[in-house]
Order: sequence, then C-alpha cells, then structure tokens
Amino acid sequence: MEKVVILGTGPAGLTAAIYLARANMKPIVIEGDQPGGQLTLTTEVENFPGFIEGIMGPELMDNMRKQAERFGAEFKRGWVTDVDFSKKPYTLEVSGLGKIETEALILSTGASAKLLNIPGEKENIGRGISTCATCDGFFFRGKKVIIVGGGDSAMEEANFLTKFASEVTIVHRRDEFRASKIMQERARENSKIRLELNKTPIEVVAGEKNVTALKVKNNESGEEEIIQTDGIFVAIGHTPNTAFLKGQIETDETGYINVIPGTTETNVPGVFACGDVQDKKYRQAITAAGTGCMAALDVERYLEGNAVHDWSKSL
Ligand code: NAP
Repeated sequence: MEKVVILGTGPAGLTAAIYLARANMKPIVIEGDQPGGQLTLTTEVENFPGFIEGIMGPELMDNMRKQAERFGAEFKRGWVTDVDFSKKPYTLEVSGLGKIETEALILSTGASAKLLNIPGEKENIGRGISTCATCDGFFFRGKKVIIVGGGDSAMEEANFLTKFASEVTIVHRRDEFRASKIMQERARENSKIRLELNKTPIEVVAGEKNVTALKVKNNESGEEEIIQTDGIFVAIGHTPNTAFLKGQIETDETGYINVIPGTTETNVPGVFACGDVQDKKYRQAITAAGTGCMAALDVERYLEGNAVHDWSKSL
C-alpha cells in the first residue's frame, strides 16, 4: 500500500510531490497523457517569480519534475479509470498499472480547454484550430484570425494575437461580453480587433490544408454567415478533469472540486485537491503551485493523525 498518491503533473501536483518527497513520504505521482499539464502548451512564462527573463513552460515543468525526483518522488505513466473512496485504504484502478491502494490521495488533474463541438472543429486542430493563443499565435503572423468567446480569456487572447495577426475578430454568441470591464475596454480600443456579436459558430470550413472560414448563425436575423479567416482560437472556458471520479467527491455544478476554504481538504477524509481542478478563479501556475504546497502539508498532517481543517483554533 502507498502512503500518498498524486494524480496529475502540472505545477500543483509537482509542487506537492517536491514537498512530500522532501518530507520522506515517498509519493507516487501518476502522470496522464499530458505530462506537465497546460504549461507544456505554452511558450514563455514571464510571471512565475524567480525567473527575471522568463522561462519556457515545458522547461519550468521539467525542472519541477526533476526537483521532485531528486528527493525520491516516483513517477508512473497511467490513466485512472476508476476510484473507490467507500473504504480505506482508497483504491485506484490505473490502466497499465492495475490496482493501487493508498492512505492519502492528492487530486491535481487540472482542467482542459472546452471545444465548440461543431462540425469541422476537431479534425482541424493544428490546421488552424487552436485553444492556446500563447502557443500558436506566432504561426499567424500577418494573417486574419478569429477568437471565439466573450470572457476574459477571449479578450486577453484577442489582444495578445494582435501582436502577430493583421486582424483579430472576436465572435461571441451574445451582444454583451462576460469579460471584466477593463479587459473589454482594452479589446474595444485596439484598432486591430473587430467584433462580431450575436453570432453562434455552427461550422468550421477548411480547404485541403487549413481552415478558411467560420460559419456562424446570426442570432438576430437567423441567417447563416461566413467569416473568412486563417485561424480560429477557441477561448470558451475550461472543464475540470474530474469525470473519472464518477461523483465520489463533492464538486460544484460545473465539476470543480469543492474544498474546505483555507485548506485543500475535500469532503472525503484523506483526499485533497489542488490546482485548477478546484480553482476556476485564479488558474495561474503560481496559485496552482501554492495550493500544491498546501495539499502536501495537509497530507502530512492527515497522515500524522492531526485534524487538517481545524484552523479556527490557531486564529
Ligand atoms: P468564461 O468566463 O467562462 O467565459 C467563456 C465565454 O465563452 C463566455 O463568454 C461564453 O458565452 C462563451 N461560450 C461558452 N461556451 C460556448 C459555446 N459552446 N459556444 C460559444 N461561446 C461559448 O471563461 P474564461 O474567459 O476562460 O475565464 C474563466 C475564468 O478565468 C474567469 O473567472 C476569468 O475572469 C478568469 N480569467 C482571468 C484573466 C485575467 O484576469 N487576466 C484572464 C483569463 C481568464 P456566454 O457569455 O454567452 O456564456
């Protein structure tokens, strides 16, 4: 039986692994099909403290992983298909690894970008469809691109893309944005950004090699329209990776794991959550790393038999 298993290898899971390995807890870290998490999809990370000139996302994650391994964290590749939290020790069914029993568990499986789920979208990922402006913006120098979405991500990415693209069109299904005022203003004031409001994407049109247009429905007239483009960036939010838990952990209505405020403790004793899988507000590498550290400390206290969330006594 393992003492503690960590699911996920983004900044949250890897920070938890560093702390637990240093505490001699010999954590087992299960990495899925995207080792390193979302940061491996970015290029330069300029706001992670300690790197004056910035650092490439994949390099940062690789460093964190090596740091965890240096202290004895053990990494295993696998995909968790089932969990059983009905009795202790908790069990995980992991494809390729079989059954793993553990006293404590850290859930740091992150979140994945949502897709529109319209015809022509999936098959053109990498051929003009992207969910990561930071990663792929560079490929659209001097070209026309579309951003789909009306939240802060869409505004931020639209602004970012104007560094490369000749024209950026924000396509949004309503006539008002969900994004914060300041982010909206920045987008509206940018002369390279055009708005197509009240338009719902219905199909991605592609030629032999690449995306050529987005077909939308005009929600006022009900008519279909074609917007010519060289690339489409989908920025409509993220889905937390919690489906494999099959309802055995309390989540909010959108699937984000609920933790007791000020801790990483879930409603299942001994199961902790950190990073984007429990955070739809901040979603930063540094906040994920911070909660990863908290999860490690919470696990230590739990395994030592101390209450985890009894902070009121120390206040
Ligand atoms: P979000 O706030 O959930 O916005 C998603 C947008 O996509 C909404 O405008 C939504 O339209 C649209 N949308 C969703 N599903 C769609 C579909 N199937 N077809 C067409 N449009 C669809 O997501 P987000 O922008 O990624 O932001 C997530 C969180 O991160 C927010 O709390 C945000 O403040 C934060 N964030 C902050 C910053 C920053 O401060 N620098 C940057 C990025 C993100 P409706 O409005 O019609 O629902």
